[in-house]
Parts: sequence; C-alpha cells; structure tokens
Amino acid sequence: MINDIIMHIDVNSAFLSWHATYEKQIGMDRDIREIPSVIGGNEENRHGIVLAKSIPAKKYNIQTGESLFEARNKCPKLLVIPPNYNLYVKASKKLREFLTTFTPQVEPFSIDECFLRFTDKSREEAVNLAYHIKDTVYNKFGYTVNIGISENKLLAKMAGDFEKPNKCHTCFPEEIRDKMWILPIEDLFMVGRKTKQKLNKIGICTIGQLANFDYDSIVRLLKSHGRLIYDYAWGRDNSTFKQIEHVKSVGNSSTLKFDVTDTETAHAIILSLVEVTAWRLREIGAFCKVVSIGIKYNDFFYISRQKKLSYFTDCTNDIHENICKLFDTTWDKKPIRQLGVSVTDLEFRAVKQISIFQSNFSKKSEILDKTIDKIRYKYGDTAIIRGTFTNNNLQPLLGGYPSDEYIGMSSIL
Ligand SMILES: [Mg+2]
Repeated sequence: MINDIIMHIDVNSAFLSWHATYEKQIGMDRDIREIPSVIGGNEENRHGIVLAKSIPAKKYNIQTGESLFEARNKCPKLLVIPPNYNLYVKASKKLREFLTTFTPQVEPFSIDECFLRFTDKSREEAVNLAYHIKDTVYNKFGYTVNIGISENKLLAKMAGDFEKPNKCHTCFPEEIRDKMWILPIEDLFMVGRKTKQKLNKIGICTIGQLANFDYDSIVRLLKSHGRLIYDYAWGRDNSTFKQIEHVKSVGNSSTLKFDVTDTETAHAIILSLVEVTAWRLREIGAFCKVVSIGIKYNDFFYISRQKKLSYFTDCTNDIHENICKLFDTTWDKKPIRQLGVSVTDLEFRAVKQISIFQSNFSKKSEILDKTIDKIRYKYGDTAIIRGTFTNNNLQPLLGGYPSDEYIGMSSIL
C-alpha cells in the first residue's frame, strides 16, 4: 500500500531571492545575495525592520525583525532594499503554477511556502522527485528552495526546516526520534517565545523531552495548545489537505467576552469578523455571491440566515453592509453570545467583473481594501485598524487569522 506523500516547499530567503532574480531579469550586474544586503521596511518611519537578509549580511549577525538602525550599526555598508510586495505575489503565483505541473494538489501556506500532496508515489520516488523539483526551480527561476518530505504536513514542514538552503530532507514517522527529538524545543512548529519559556521552566529544552514528558502536566500548563504541541512532538497531525479550488466557504466566528445587546456593537463585531473573512477571500483570489450570519444567543439558541447577492464581490465594505442588513432582519434583540459570518458560492478568477449593482462607495473601498491588505501584510495584522475600533475595546480583527477553513498566511497547519 502506498501512503500519502506530503512535500513542503519553502523559498530560501524569499524576499531577497525574488528581488535578486528580478534584478538579474532586468539586466543588473550585481547579485544582492552575494553582498551584505537586506530587504527592509520604510526607513522614514519607525517600522523600518529587516524582513529578509543575505547570507553575507547574516555573517554580521544581522537578524530578521531587528530595526534597520541596529542592522546598519552592525554593518555600515549594508545595502537596504525596500520591499516590493507586488513582485513577491507574482513570484509566489508563478512558483505555485509551476508546482501544479507535478500534482494538482497544491496548498499554499504562506507567500513563500506551500504543500504538495501525492497519492501515487513510493517514498523513494518522492525523494527523487523532490530533488528534481528543487533543481528545476533553480534552473527555471534562479532561486533555491528547501523541500521537506513526509506523510503529513507537520512532519514535512519540520523536515523542510532542518538545514538550509537548497536542501531536501525527509522526516518519516520512524525518523522522528533521530531527526526531530534532538532539536531545541523552539524549533517545533507552533512553539513561540512564550511557550518556550514556560517549557524551559519545567525542564523541557528539546522536542524529545516534550514528547516524553507527562501529558497531563503539559495540558495543565498550556491547555489546548499543550495538546497540540505534544501531538506535534510525536509527529501527529490530522489536518486535512486543502486545495484552494476546493475551498467552498470562508468564514469567521467569535464567542464574545460579553453579551451583546445593541445594534451598533453587533455591527462593529461583524465588521471585525468580515475584515478577516474578506481578507482571506482576497488572499485566495476568490469572489463570493452568498453571505451569511450566524447568531448564538446566551441561552445557546442558534439561528443563521443567508443572502444571495446579485453580483460576486471580495470587498470588505460590501460584505459587511450586506451581512449587517441580514443581521438587522434576523436578530430578535436577545443577548448575543456568539457571532459568525461566512461567505459561500465562491468563484475563482483573476479579474473581477464590474457590477452595476454595487454601490459607488463599495467600488472605492475596494481600492482601500487592497491598500489595507498590503499594510497589514507589511506591518502585521493590527498595524491598521478601522476607526470604529479605536474608541472601544473591541478587537479589530476578531476570530484570529489563522483560519480553520483556509490557510493563507497563517501559522496553523
Ligand atoms: Mg522561506
């Protein structure tokens, strides 16, 4: 019997590599990968941080995420290149298109990472194919990738991170002990700085130590996150493989910290949910025609309603307006415990058709959407928030981006 094979493809120093190949294409002589260089945010404002660095820049101990000011102190002749997100999006799409020539099952994970699934390959065939893909990407596009090979996404991703750049690694279940357990705990997917500190405190410094620690104590310490990373330490990951084309709906819901009893607050919460939903929709290049609202009352009674629009849209304002109307006709004024929004009837296409049914305001706000997406992408989820959220305690992006339905730029497998 042949098991699923999952590969994780990760572009090495993606922003820098893509920029370097772009410079080659337009005929520039230099290769920014061979000199101390970084891709860094705007230096005029305080958000100027290192987004990606060349290997020579790494030798000066320049770290991703530190300020350009710090980086320049370490290396005064450092070349700083501003980010070009359009270029990255294009390069990312080109790579994914190429990868679909090997399997139709390609799941994007972030702008420079994706998973491939094969159902007809032996392990040996898969490893040979991974080397072939890695070398072909280099010959065709001029940059290097790492490829991790295993039977689930978690293990493939762990393998892809083993040693960089330009490498293929396997991490099959029986290799977990030798290849994964020896690694420091912070190398485990989903173990951040805070979790690492908590685990270090109880003497867990490697992935192997977590795997062999008392399960109940981990769960007591870290709750559901503890369950997740304990399973990850054992290489267990039952997440399904999601192809963009198979995404049927995008949604977002949140249990509220307080019962909502007025329309204004409800509309604001709906906006925060729609922000993330519409953003995801745009990420996957889809437009929706049906919007829905789900309301759970404080007595746990649940009601949902949907509405078919006369046009396809991916616009935050448009979706918000329609869901609010739907909410107004559905809500019977009882205290609300949980709100959810979702969009279905998706269409995937590159260019949007203009509709005469869409309001002018919505058309304008589409441009705003794209700009907001870019800023968030650059500076983080909460770098820019709508005016509605500045005067109250509501979270501007509810529900948290990682989605359980579609994984865009997320951290959950
Ligand atoms: Mg990368």
